[in-house]
Amino acid sequence: MTQHAVVIAGGGPTGLMLAGELALAGIDVAIVERRVNQELIGTRSRGLHARTIEVLDQRGIAERFLSQGQPAQVAGFHMIRLDISDFPTRHPYGLALGQNHFERILAGWVAELGVKIYREREVIGFTQDDAGVDVQLSNDQRMRAEYLVGCDGGRSVVRKTAGIDFPGWDATTSWLIAEVQVTEEPPWGFKRDARGMHALGKVENSSRMGLVIEQPTGLADEPTLRDVSEALVAVYGTDFGAHSPTWISRFTDMTRQAAAYRSGRVLLAGDAAHVHPPIGGQGLNIGVQDAVNLGWKLAQVVKQTSPDALLDTYHAERHPVAARVLRISMAQMGLRRTDDRTKALGDIVAELLKMDSPRRHMAAEMSGLGVHYDLGEGHPLLGRRVPDLDLTTASGPLGVFTLLHKARPVLLNLGKPGSVDITPWADRVQLIDASYSGKWELPALGVVLAPTALLVRPDGYVAWAGERAQAGLVEALTRWFGNPSRLRRSETALSAAKG
Ligand SMILES: Cc1cc2nc3c(=O)[nH]c(=O)nc-3n(C[C@H](O)[C@H](O)[C@H](O)COP(=O)(O)OP(=O)(O)OC[C@H]3O[C@@H](n4cnc5c(N)ncnc54)[C@H](O)[C@@H]3O)c2cc1C
Repeated sequence: MTQHAVVIAGGGPTGLMLAGELALAGIDVAIVERRVNQELIGTRSRGLHARTIEVLDQRGIAERFLSQGQPAQVAGFHMIRLDISDFPTRHPYGLALGQNHFERILAGWVAELGVKIYREREVIGFTQDDAGVDVQLSNDQRMRAEYLVGCDGGRSVVRKTAGIDFPGWDATTSWLIAEVQVTEEPPWGFKRDARGMHALGKVENSSRMGLVIEQPTGLADEPTLRDVSEALVAVYGTDFGAHSPTWISRFTDMTRQAAAYRSGRVLLAGDAAHVHPPIGGQGLNIGVQDAVNLGWKLAQVVKQTSPDALLDTYHAERHPVAARVLRISMAQMGLRRTDDRTKALGDIVAELLKMDSPRRHMAAEMSGLGVHYDLGEGHPLLGRRVPDLDLTTASGPLGVFTLLHKARPVLLNLGKPGSVDITPWADRVQLIDASYSGKWELPALGVVLAPTALLVRPDGYVAWAGERAQAGLVEALTRWFGNPSRLRRSETALSAAKG
């Protein structure tokens, strides 16, 4: 039977990112993917939010994506642009970049890291025991892994087989989307009628038409050209001679979230763990960030430098983030209603979002820069993203994100050089003496007190911030990066047993 430490079901954006994170940490990881290659049928995510760009920057690969897309102000709420150009980040913008390009570039990185992708086969089931998971594939192949991660999208077989509930809200509306050739010039742009909001757009550098037609729920899951023609006639009185579709698809506003992101040795990430309408453009972004939260934790558990309870922090941190995204997308769906009362509510929301403080608050949410994991009381940086500050070190200038390229944690000593000692963790945490004289400013929060030391996790979130003394540092190192003496004791016991 084929064996890997970690098997990932699904090589979409989330599965690819997770595979990259695990491979960076030296874990034997493989992806099982249904698709023959990374090509996507149809259109999905149109871009990245600022925090996703930062996350890629933390791994030294942001430029690959930036060079292929168009930086733009993409954060918004209720169709109101939320400009983040004044936010304290190296990337105060989003990136217009289609999901097909995103996946292609990410797959290139994953290939460089040597991840094995088993294509044209599906995970169809699994059983787990105390030591691992037996994964069944559609081609009669079986695989053995210490952990299985379901990154297999909204209809996740892994989630269903694990028996994890997927509570939420059924669809209230659906959209037929397609790309077709036309023989008549359509009226490009948006149209609203009693059925909802529709759009016709010219596909760049081609004679094709992209269309989005809002329809009731309960229609064919796999629509045909005939469905497209009928939908166009119903809204525009003609189908513009639609023919030769490149693809036809449908999506809805169904909104659901897995009740648990973990069941023993099986975990869920991305759309397998949460689905919501694409309004606000969050799905791919939070999937990638799920992967970055889970990757280093799973790597440490596989390497046995941390107990497997560390994996429970993945649900504790990421479930609330997606729950919030789901609520925000439901709020935006509510504001789309066209009755006078909802319009009045929308006008008030628009007024509020023109004011600086609400704009900053919502923009921090929508860009992902405001994510705050609840790691307890303490310095405002605790549980928040570390800013990519320009540090000065004995060997020259250094950006904080550069220290995260290999996905290793770092203790930044910003006080007297040599004043911090983390010898027991020296093999797993980098210790950097540095100085920084600028402001410490966080999106939406503003300027915060400069810390004298920071413990930064591989995902770029602050695990501990020292103000003057080092109180709590040993506890934070132990909590996040394991107890080296306990490991040494078990190694000694093991070699004594072997001897
Ligand atoms: C119309 C539309 C517009 C969108 N716009 C945006 C946007 O602007 N911004 C944004 O952030 N998000 C957007 N999204 C959401 C985004 O596309 C998803 O959130 C994202 O693709 C989730 O990535 P994933 O890797 O978790 O899942 P998926 O992309 O669904 O990937 C799952 C992968 O698993 C494979 N797979 C499935 N089952 C199995 C199995 N049993 N065995 C093996 N392989 C399997 C699939 O082939 C696929 O490659 C949009 C979605 C839609 C439909």
